[in-house]
Amino acid sequence: MTIPFNKPFIIGDELKYIEEAVKSGKISGDGLFTKKCQNFFEEKYSFPKVLLTTSCTDALEMAAILCDIKEGDEVIVPSYTFVSSANAFALRGAKIVFVDSYSDNPNIDPREIEKHITPKTKVIVPVHYAGVACDMEAIMNLAKQHDIFVVEDAAQAIDSYYTFADGTKKALGSIGHFAAFSFHETKNIIAGEGGMLVVNDEKYFERAEIIREKGTNRSAFFRGEVNKYGWVDLGSSFLPSEIISAFLYAQLENLDKIQSKRIDIWNRYMNGLNDLMEKGDIKLPIIPNYSTNNAHMFYMVCRSYEERTALIKYLKEKDILSVFHYLSLNKSDFFLKNNLEIDIPNSDNFTDSLLRLPFYYELTEKEQNLIIEEIKVFFDA
Ligand SMILES: *Cc1c(COP(=O)(O)O)cnc(C)c1O
Repeated sequence: MTIPFNKPFIIGDELKYIEEAVKSGKISGDGLFTKKCQNFFEEKYSFPKVLLTTSCTDALEMAAILCDIKEGDEVIVPSYTFVSSANAFALRGAKIVFVDSYSDNPNIDPREIEKHITPKTKVIVPVHYAGVACDMEAIMNLAKQHDIFVVEDAAQAIDSYYTFADGTKKALGSIGHFAAFSFHETKNIIAGEGGMLVVNDEKYFERAEIIREKGTNRSAFFRGEVNKYGWVDLGSSFLPSEIISAFLYAQLENLDKIQSKRIDIWNRYMNGLNDLMEKGDIKLPIIPNYSTNNAHMFYMVCRSYEERTALIKYLKEKDILSVFHYLSLNKSDFFLKNNLEIDIPNSDNFTDSLLRLPFYYELTEKEQNLIIEEIKVFFDA
């Protein structure tokens, strides 16, 4: 039996709620389940306003419109990230400025951000890799100083927190101007495809609703605030159907259970692989003091590309599917079409050497022990 890298799961009343949504006679967006999900997030994480979207990518595209990105504006993005963190802004004509990670943590390094700020910089996009917080205090200080928007790519960061120097603890996604989360089947909380936009400044609540509703003021119309609705701004179709939010709501009812199981899985990998780290064979994730761990993924860093390739192959022969992650966006075909090749050393190193191990809710202790054993056999050989 193959141990897959990821496996979607049902944990509670997902199917029952989908049936309820269908029977209620409304399965388009913004029905009962969408509202329940949005309220859940607003209450649990003190997000001022949440709008469910069809993906995190969509939420990032909404944020780019809300930031009024125009041709030539510069947007600072880590080079070690998923395409959408950059593409959402490139779609609006932004020039993407790639910045490096720390050497021992794939998150964006604020010292590198500072070096790349120019009068044209309009947005910084911190990506909380593996759900581990970027240094939000340093990033928010830079943003304030230079009057720049911060859009958190919190795709992987549900239920994770950042602690400021004064001891204030805030949920990731509640710190920047906007934040985007994902409920893709590979994330902690899933809905197949799905996401949400968090709007932290009241000034943008109304425009965010309009952008999400194809550029119309339909949401205000349904609340009875205007007596007809029409085209008032840019927008697109960003809202998910009730079938998606019904599934999502059942997951949210079990969020604590999912998280506690994932943290057990994460700790088991960490403890099991500790010997190899102490021997210097591999590096393991570092969680800075200002961040919590939401156990979004478990990764290890090999010594070289060749070693990682050999390990992936070895594990595959043992029916264990491990996978590498991002290809530095500075090395992507799309970027190189219009730009010269640049080296972004730490990001390039993670591109070559980082390996993600199987991680999903239903992963058993027995399977995990087998994975850890096989990794040890590989390095002992
Ligand atoms: C998963 C992910 C996305 C994209 O999420 P979708 O919901 O699939 O659009 C964006 N950024 C990061 C960092 C991700 O991990």
